[in-house]
Amino acid sequence: MTAVPALQAAVALAAAQAEAAHARGTFGVGGVMLDAHGALLQAMPNRVIENGMLLDPTAHGERQLVDWYFARIAAGASLPPPSQITVVTSVDPCCMCAGALLAAGFRVVVAANDGQAGVNYDAGAAFPALPDGLRAAAQALFSYPEVGAPSPYARAASGASLPSFFLGQGIDAATQTRCVRAFEASAEVCQQTIHGDLARAGLLDPRTLAPDHPLVLAVRSVYRDALGYTCAGPQRPDAGLIPYLRAAQQADRAAGGDGDACALLDAFGNLVLCLPGALATSPIQTAYMRCVRAYSLLRHRLRSAGVAQAERYLGHPKHGTLLLLRGPDHGAASFMTLGAYGSTMEGPLPSENPHQFQYVQARLAPGQVQQLCEALPPLYRHAIKVMPSQVDDAALISAFA
Ligand SMILES: [Zn+2]
Repeated sequence: MTAVPALQAAVALAAAQAEAAHARGTFGVGGVMLDAHGALLQAMPNRVIENGMLLDPTAHGERQLVDWYFARIAAGASLPPPSQITVVTSVDPCCMCAGALLAAGFRVVVAANDGQAGVNYDAGAAFPALPDGLRAAAQALFSYPEVGAPSPYARAASGASLPSFFLGQGIDAATQTRCVRAFEASAEVCQQTIHGDLARAGLLDPRTLAPDHPLVLAVRSVYRDALGYTCAGPQRPDAGLIPYLRAAQQADRAAGGDGDACALLDAFGNLVLCLPGALATSPIQTAYMRCVRAYSLLRHRLRSAGVAQAERYLGHPKHGTLLLLRGPDHGAASFMTLGAYGSTMEGPLPSENPHQFQYVQARLAPGQVQQLCEALPPLYRHAIKVMPSQVDDAALISAFA
């Protein structure tokens, strides 16, 4: 009897995670984490959608594996250092997951390509989507093993050399096809679920609710100052946000971060959340990731519990404003954030809200931000049009200059 090649077995495990995710109605993608000898440490499916509702737009398998690893390290577990960790994914990592994996410094082995959202969307393993410094890192860490014929997805090996325990191995065409099918069969219905949300005209202002309304209490249990401030105009962050951003900035520094914060304003200009990162827990627990996750989980919890009109009072973030205290730079965590923003929107921005994504402190010139965004894979560049812009309010900018 011929032994199953290690790479083939690992891809089959990732394919099984992807199929399980698809069966549960979320994106059919999954991944596994291996130690320095190729032994399985953990497996994760995509968990973006649960019970037919958006749960967490950042819950991709690879991003969860990165957080799992650092949570275990923080809890005192004895795991190999990041340079000895390999993540095998069923589909090429999206920009959020690629940024997360690069921030972690793991090796990556990819089964199927993704021409829309994959960081290697053009299949050249040169990574034109990444800024210069990250491009070299991806070339050293991301492997695309050979896939044999007969398969419409057959390919020669490209990218980084495989980890020693996979050297010289390829992926069976049938197993790779399982990865492709699980993803393709799920993508459209998942995007429709995310976009089945109420339009702007269907939303109600939560500031009209009584202070002891269950919905107000729930959002204040996540962020004490929720609904405590309303900007003078919707989609126009202003200087009234300074104390909230400053408090989150200080909390971020105290938690090992560089003073970042992320605020979510709703369609009426109400401040809903303003959170710091938790970088001491994990290099990818940035303020953006924590803010979007906290809001999405809250909405899912309230909608699942049948809280009356939760959907009307807590709309999809695309109708409001996501505000970063610190604008994009060329680092891995920033790239992850651009990708995570794409995963949060998952499709075109509403035409009445083209500047949904804003920042206070510029770390790159506007032309550099534009260059970064225009290099992103097609989904981000053409469909979502990810393009953060600096806030208009001069007093808000100068408070953090
Ligand atoms: Zn991803």
